Formats: sequence, C-alpha cells, structure tokens
Amino acid sequence: MRYVSTRGKAPLVGFTDQLLEGLAPDGGLYLPEEFPPLADIGSAADYTDAAVRITLPFVAGDIPADDWGMLLENAYRRFESPEVTPLVDIGNDHFLLELFHGPTLAFKDIAMQVLGDLFEYELKRRATSVTVIGATSGDTGAAAVQALADRQGIELFMLFPDGGISEAQRRQMTTCQAANVHNLAVDGSFDDCQDLVKAMFSDEAFRNRHGLSAVNSINWARVMMQVVYYAVAVARLNRPVTFSVPTGNFGNVYAGHVARRMGADIKGLIIASNRNDILTRFHAESVMEIRDVVRTTSPSMDIQVSSNLERFVFEALGHDGSATEAFMTEFRSNQSIADHKVADAYRNAFSAAMVTDAEGSEVIADLAARLNVLIDPHTAIGVGAVGKLKPEGPVVTLATAHPAKFSDAIAAATGDKPAVPDRLQAALNAPETFQSVPRDLETIKSIIAQSRQEF
Ligand SMILES: *Cc1c(COP(=O)(O)O)cnc(C)c1O
Repeated sequence: MRYVSTRGKAPLVGFTDQLLEGLAPDGGLYLPEEFPPLADIGSAADYTDAAVRITLPFVAGDIPADDWGMLLENAYRRFESPEVTPLVDIGNDHFLLELFHGPTLAFKDIAMQVLGDLFEYELKRRATSVTVIGATSGDTGAAAVQALADRQGIELFMLFPDGGISEAQRRQMTTCQAANVHNLAVDGSFDDCQDLVKAMFSDEAFRNRHGLSAVNSINWARVMMQVVYYAVAVARLNRPVTFSVPTGNFGNVYAGHVARRMGADIKGLIIASNRNDILTRFHAESVMEIRDVVRTTSPSMDIQVSSNLERFVFEALGHDGSATEAFMTEFRSNQSIADHKVADAYRNAFSAAMVTDAEGSEVIADLAARLNVLIDPHTAIGVGAVGKLKPEGPVVTLATAHPAKFSDAIAAATGDKPAVPDRLQAALNAPETFQSVPRDLETIKSIIAQSRQEF
C-alpha cells in the first residue's frame, strides 16, 4: 500500500514512512492511495483478529503479517474488557459502544496503544530515533504519554491548553515521571497548540534536525485503527447501523466514513458537536467559519479547526491536491470558506446536531436515573444528538471516555461523583511535572532543541 498527501506535492511513500513522518513534507495529510475492501470478519467474535484482518492491507509491503498480528495482540491485551469495545443496550434499539476500556480510559487508547508498540518496532528496525510532538485537548496527551513513556528511541513533547483540560486528564499526563516525556502547558487554546505543532512541522530544517514525528490524528495510523470498531459493531449487530459520534477534530467520525467507504454497512453517521459547533454550522449553512473557542464540560471537543476535515475535502474535490491546498489556505486566511462542492459532499455523507452543556447534563441525569448507566459529557453530546435527530435504529453512540475522567460534570448532573477506577486513582494522587510556556513558537522550539541535546 502506498500513501499520497492531500496537498499532492509529496512523493508516494509506504506505511512506515508515513507513520514516522506524521505530516507530509508538503504540509498535507497522508491517505492510502485507495481504500481496500473490508475483510470478512464474520461476527467479529475476536476483536484483535478482526482488527488484523481489516488493517492488514494498509500495512502490506511494509510490515509482515505475523509481526502485525503480534503488535495488535500486545496492544489489545492491555484492555480491561475481553471484547475490547463492548456494546451496551440502552433501549429503543440504541446502544453505546464503550471505547474506554484501555489504560487511560478514553477511546484514544485504541489507536495509541498500537502506535506505542509500532513506533518502537519500526525505530528498532531502522536503528534511529524520533521526536514526537503533539497537541492535545486532553485525552490524546494522556494516551500518548502512557503509550510512549520509557520507549526506546522516542522523545515526547505534548502541548496542552493551560486550564483547558480536566484535572484528571492533566494528571494522567503530568504524573508520568518517565525521562523521555515532556508536558508543556501552553498559554492558549487547543487550536493554538495544534497550530504550533503544525508550524514546527513546516520548518523543514527544524523538522529534519530533530526527526519530528506525530501521534495526533493527523497520523493516518490513528484513523486506520479506529476504522475497526465501526466494522466490529456492525458485525456484532448484524444489521445496517447509524453511528452518533461526539466530534471535535473530525478524526473519529472520519474513521467511520472510511469504514463505510471500505464497505461496512453503515446507514448514517451523525456529527455530534458541543457549543464549538463549526462542523454542525457547516452542515446547516454550507459556510465553514471559525469562531472563538468556548470552554465546555466536554473539553476534548473544544476545537474550531478540525484538522482531519482536510482528508474529506481532498476526497470531495476529486483527489485534487492543489484545490485542497487552495481550500485550506483560504479557510485559514479568511477564517471562513463557502465551497459548494465540499459542502454538498459533506451533507451527503453526514448528518449533524449541536448539543449544549445543559442538554448534555440532562442526558447524563436521565440515563443515570432510568437505567443506572453513567456516561461522560462527550458521550452525552452523542446521545443528545440522537435525541434531536431521531434516526431509525439500530443506533450506536460511541462512548468516548469513562465518566470518572470528568467527575465534576457528572456530579453536577447526578449529584454524585462516579467511582474512580484504580487505573485513574494512581494518577490522581501522584506528584505532577510540567512546564508552563507562552504561546510562542521560538520559545517552544528552543525547549525541544535543548532537551534533544540531552537525549
Ligand atoms: C478526542 C475526543 C473526542 C473527539 O474526537 P475527534 O477524533 O477529535 O473527533 C471526543 N470525546 C473524547 C472523550 C475524546 O477524547
């Protein structure tokens, strides 16, 4: 399998090259040249086996099948549920797909646990090292720190918005004492963090000197591993399914789109936004317009610029790299764009609804009271969107985080704090290590350059 850049100016590369590069050298995102047909996974009784079958074509030519199987075995053994992503019935042909049974209690683990082993495997084969830099709205950071701590050949720098993530999310990162992990609290929003990371990638000299690499969902391997649970849910229900996906960076719902393109029997994909509803407004108005980020009780979705949308834009514009680049450039310089070709394709592929914090809180209280089921504030946005759009069943809402990660919002909705799993309790008690930094590219670059010399 070979990979193309959405900006069309980078050479075609294999799976492991695009894995280590993260962002393509022309500033685009990598995509496989074509989506392979979905493998037959039967009733998906074994998650890991299904994952290997579905993703093997994406690594073909770069990673031997036996090695790939071993990497995925190792990753999914660390999940608490043998089903990895269990389905929970909440009535009316509506199910939760629980994606939070990994080490950091959010869905980011499903891809990140694989990435940790995969990076180490490939760096060892190449006898080289990388500097992984990332931006996080909370859960990616925790998952990356957990997956990459003490890994050989990797130095990790994670930028997070100071005060913009929950305490549990922050502590899951900052209580890690591994010498190769550097947490940077940035005086800015998640979008600022993401822009700083992109700016470091566009500085070619800096990028090459430090061997920059990415674990954000700009990395195709993340999206690819998320395709699996859509296909698994459809196989388990054995009927065409509508998915409701709490979305911020458009990574998760885009993975659903890829699953459908590969042949998974998906009837509908709902984009569920919190008050940062650029994706929902784009759906209703055909204009994609950046507004100020507002802080909500679902902080992992407090995002305006959804980086993965570029992959969808590339497809909507007929795989035209120049047109994609023009679209993205105009969007960023004017803070808004109206393009009918993209908007029409987007409306055909998805439906969308915005759910406020207050509405989400009602959803949490209702499920707790009626069914004794606790959901986190991100999942509540997904369930709330189903309540607004009322699709025909079966409907699967992706449960993206464990409620204990957002205990304040749960307590506000239900009156009680959720029980804290052991995996989280340890992080809540340990001492924190992080560095506060201004929203300034040069300062952050010099911090990275200094730590790399010690490496
Ligand atoms: C990251 C995250 C999201 C949003 O996922 P995207 O891939 O950015 O759309 C939703 N919920 C939780 C809990 C998350 O951590």
